[in-house]
Amino acid sequence: MIRLMVPDIDDADVAAVEKVLRSGFLVQGENVARFENAVAAYVGARHAVAVSNCTAALYLSLIATAVGPGDIVAVSAYSWPATANVIELVGARPLFVDVEPDTFNISIEALRRVLRSNDVAAILAVHAFGAPADCDALAEVALSNDIPLIEDAACALGSTLSGRHVGTWGLTGCFSFHPRKTITTGEGGVIVTDDAEVAATCRALRNHGQDPDARMPDFILPGLNFRLTEFQGALGEVQVAKIERHIVERRRRAAIYDRLLQGSDVQIPKRVDGSRENFQSYVILLPPAAAASRSDIIAELHEDDIETTIGTYNIPATTFFRRKYGYELGAFPVTESIASQSLTLPLHHRMAAEEQEKVVQSLAKALVTTLERS
Ligand SMILES: *Cc1c(COP(=O)(O)O)cnc(C)c1O
Repeated sequence: MIRLMVPDIDDADVAAVEKVLRSGFLVQGENVARFENAVAAYVGARHAVAVSNCTAALYLSLIATAVGPGDIVAVSAYSWPATANVIELVGARPLFVDVEPDTFNISIEALRRVLRSNDVAAILAVHAFGAPADCDALAEVALSNDIPLIEDAACALGSTLSGRHVGTWGLTGCFSFHPRKTITTGEGGVIVTDDAEVAATCRALRNHGQDPDARMPDFILPGLNFRLTEFQGALGEVQVAKIERHIVERRRRAAIYDRLLQGSDVQIPKRVDGSRENFQSYVILLPPAAAASRSDIIAELHEDDIETTIGTYNIPATTFFRRKYGYELGAFPVTESIASQSLTLPLHHRMAAEEQEKVVQSLAKALVTTLERS
């Protein structure tokens, strides 16, 4: 099977985890702290706070920026549902914003429009599949409206714009270490910020509300337990050390797909001047006529031992949000069409060029059969 993604776990990763397991100290400690320092140094942020996953990172970011009941948060319509769920869970309301048809990132024009007619408390923007959103414009919009920007950079560790890492434009940036992302700790996440107060609040929130700076235990907030384990911290430190090599390898394979797909009727990922995409996923758009047959295409590729999947979700159209807010067809036209046409192709560090050729050939074959049938 040509897998969608294979995490890069080698002897050094296993040794780091084993060492911690044998030490008997398994709960958040010096290994997690070293991992945080490595992430902060890598992206160029003052503080990094490791948590159990990126959903927790987003949730704590909202609590730490005092987004709560009655607030409205502008958010990309096209994302993994966690991006909007955390807004609901702090009692706020997501105000969905359509995305761009080529980058799949939030439309700045649509964002400006909703900000004119709504009292928005924060912006939650996604870097779709690791492709940097227009951070300068987002930061400018947030600043001119005097509201915080939170970056859902779950997929985007290592992606940069003019050399600057995504996740460092917002008040907080949130990264994921799920095995589908570029580097992994099994499950895991991190909040990066330059704001000492936000960092301290997140540190308290992830650990039962305990004051991170007090010498004797003191509880200053109603917190949760969103800690990362020590063995995940040790794994993370080894993983961060190899991320640059990974990004080079992913970009090289993305370029091979670009070349193989040139002249076909699928839309390949857009490259933006000055941005370095980490290609967490290589997401193409099927021709509109093939959208209705996407699950057949995925099944046909599977017959050829190739694992593919959809891109991500039209969140307002999922049952919870549709029922709660009465979503109407046509409200987010770009999100609707790309959510139906997107297809993620396999891309990982062990993938051979011949395997990429096989994927593209199998896809071409599946497209011909489905289009003939329709
Ligand atoms: C993966 C992902 C998340 C959730 O990350 P977890 O670490 O699995 O909680 C959130 N947002 C986006 C855009 C993602 O891709």
